[in-house]
Amino acid sequence: MSRLVVVSNRTVDPRKTAAGGLAVAVRESLQRTGGLWFGWSGKIYDESDEMTSRRGVHVQTLGNVTLATVDLSQQDHDNYYLGYANGVLWPVFHYRLDLADFDTRFAAGYRRVNQLFAEKLLPLLRPDDIIWVHDYHLIPLAAELRAIGCGNRIGFFLHIPMPPPMIMAAIPEHEWLMRSLFAYDLVGFQGQIDVEHFTHYAESEANARQVGPQQLRAFNRTLRLGAYPIGIDVEEFVSLANGKEAREMFTRMRDEYSRRRLLLGVDRLDYSKGLPQRIHAFRELLAHYPENRDSATLIQIASPSRESVAAYDDLRRQMDSLCGAINGDYGELDWMPVRYIHRHVARKRLPGLYRASKVALVTPLRDGMNLVAKEFIAAQDPSDPGMLVLSRFAGAAEQLKEALLVNPYDTQGTAHAIQRALTMPLDERRNRHAALMKRIREHDVHWWSSSFLDTLQDIP
Ligand code: UDP
Repeated sequence: MSRLVVVSNRTVDPRKTAAGGLAVAVRESLQRTGGLWFGWSGKIYDESDEMTSRRGVHVQTLGNVTLATVDLSQQDHDNYYLGYANGVLWPVFHYRLDLADFDTRFAAGYRRVNQLFAEKLLPLLRPDDIIWVHDYHLIPLAAELRAIGCGNRIGFFLHIPMPPPMIMAAIPEHEWLMRSLFAYDLVGFQGQIDVEHFTHYAESEANARQVGPQQLRAFNRTLRLGAYPIGIDVEEFVSLANGKEAREMFTRMRDEYSRRRLLLGVDRLDYSKGLPQRIHAFRELLAHYPENRDSATLIQIASPSRESVAAYDDLRRQMDSLCGAINGDYGELDWMPVRYIHRHVARKRLPGLYRASKVALVTPLRDGMNLVAKEFIAAQDPSDPGMLVLSRFAGAAEQLKEALLVNPYDTQGTAHAIQRALTMPLDERRNRHAALMKRIREHDVHWWSSSFLDTLQDIP
């Protein structure tokens, strides 16, 4: 079996509990087979520092995984990471052209860092390594590796949505990005809709031809495509739910809210998550279904994210004001409708919070997958499960058909679905939960990584 080499923007110590979806999934696939994990160290080096060795690769062996990382200069970090990845690709791929800043310096920095990654990675590679590149930070990596002689099999997985062709075409460098994707052997997406968007885009903008099932030919290369919806490690999550931290959290919440019904949102504070729309829908619930006043409480956790990007600051102010207004208008001396917490909650404690909640609100305007939706299902008590209200625009909605699907732009429709979730009979909740559980078990994180890697391995 070939060695697995994973490349992602950030790496984490594979022995520690990882926080984000990507880190959990990557750690899982690497620990199973052993291998090399390459990425940015998270450190910025001082350009005035003469010690050029800091631009070298730091290598650490941790169990059966070797971590290899590089530092970035301040300018490269700002242009590649803040500027292009999070200021152009993230908003555009989430359909937010209005928030993109197409500064040409960002594109140049993005290319420079991808070249740096390729140069530093190439000497670490063995001829039969299989390389798996993750996410929008590294779209051109395979093309940069190929340009300096890498002939290995390389797969790419896009964790965020693929936008429709006309939106993609607004990026000034979109042709270069698309050509770069054809340097991979396999490109995986979260959902079938993303595969369709990419196919239409490649056909219309690059005259790509379908040369087999899920195979496109353009730029003298054949590219295999597929939908590989990312899952969670259900067993790991269930055992996390039985852990001390989660049980303590559950007991605390159950006691605190014994007289009330808890609704829960857990998100990074990101404009793709539909947080203001969610607060509007909750407000509508209180206005139109007054029985929820003094009875339903929404806990909204919004973990800080990308605070040096301007759009995130605006969102923070908007949320402060919306939550303040709803509490001011509807709150009582002994009841506040919304508890808004702008802090990260440790992953170990989340299952307790999920389990104590009657309803989860996962209502992004667009999301590649959304793992919180799957974690909420896994943490429920099957004999009395909470209900998931899920945006139809989350990648997870392609799979989680038994959730209550909503259009988050439709305030009244979402409020109505929340009311339905709050009043759903036990039998129906149990049946829906059992069906959802089956789906997340069938397509868990092990299925995700092995089906992607098996396909990549089998490409002739
Ligand atoms: N998460 C966490 N603490 C928080 C907020 C989120 O540990 O305060 C975790 C959450 O459990 C999930 C991940 O971060 O595993 C978020 O993944 P998701 O796919 O929902 O969204 P993303 O942040 O990747 O857009």
